[in-house]
Amino acid sequence: FDIRQEHVSAAEREFENALRPLRFGDFSGQQKVVENLEVFVEAAKYRGEPLDHTLLHGPPGLGKTTLSNIIANELGVGFKITSGPVLDKPGDLAGILTSLERNDVLFIDEIHRLSPVVEEYLYSAMEDYRIDIMIDKGPSARSIQIDLNPFTLVGATTRSGLLTAPLRARFGINLHLEYYEPDTLMKILKRSAGILNVPIDDEAAMEIARRSRGTPRIANALLRRVRDFAQVKGNGRIDIDITTLSLSALNIDSFGLDETDNKILLAIIDKFKGGPVGVSTIATAIGEDSGTVEEVYEPFLIMEGFIKRTPRGRMATELAYRHFGRNPYSGNIM
Ligand code: ADP
Repeated sequence: FDIRQEHVSAAEREFENALRPLRFGDFSGQQKVVENLEVFVEAAKYRGEPLDHTLLHGPPGLGKTTLSNIIANELGVGFKITSGPVLDKPGDLAGILTSLERNDVLFIDEIHRLSPVVEEYLYSAMEDYRIDIMIDKGPSARSIQIDLNPFTLVGATTRSGLLTAPLRARFGINLHLEYYEPDTLMKILKRSAGILNVPIDDEAAMEIARRSRGTPRIANALLRRVRDFAQVKGNGRIDIDITTLSLSALNIDSFGLDETDNKILLAIIDKFKGGPVGVSTIATAIGEDSGTVEEVYEPFLIMEGFIKRTPRGRMATELAYRHFGRNPYSGNIM
């Protein structure tokens, strides 16, 4: 059972969309980010200008798509969504850009995966609201300039380290999303349960929140599964008993750690005697990309106290040893 699977089904996507907050007021957590955005959105609206281009970075499932949708709603403008890997040719990008109305929001997910040619195109679009397109082929080929409506590009990335400097420089607003605290996830879960019309006890919501790896997407996906158990094996209400039963049936770790988290910790403990060890060495040992380890996995493991960063590398903590039932005094620990 892997709730973080890359390819979500249409039903899962529909479920996600139904739970997506549409206003800042319904978006919980990320307080600093939201407070800043509210000011920028209000100011842009007041001046009748597009919001500055905005870069949202942070691990998957923390609300980047949701926030960009909220930005468009709060601005009262149109919203178009695409992603780096989908924009294959400059023509694909030109098609979308020319369809934008004044001050619309264009969301590009996984913007670090844009091809270099498409990215090049984006520069003049972002800077001057203008693109050059080539028409015709061969000797009669020529380029014509097209003026675009002013628009806001919201770019999202899980790997801000992979963004090129010129692209990064073109974003006026740059915001980082953090993993959520269980209290906030609990609030999100209660809101979701309300929308789904399924009663849930606080204790149960808190238990799901704790096991959701700090991620609203995972919290909502677990809620969906626990609801199934409550309706089939219980009386429809999500209480602590049915929650504990479902989470153990689904093999959900008591801290919400996923397979890669576990691999990282076990590598540090078993292969490197608890550390210190560098991120790229850990990444090689588990066959994962080192940027992903550093930007996606490690922040959660550090927040939860499983890993400590030291000047000489990463070390597993006592909590990490105990989590696997290991003796913390058999290795180097913090
Ligand atoms: P990302 O684009 O960062 O991968 P999404 O915006 O798609 O994440 O969020 C995933 C799911 O989590 C959505 O269904 C959304 O409803 C929910 N979600 C994310 N952040 C929040 C939040 N702060 N409050 C409520 N729901 C949230």
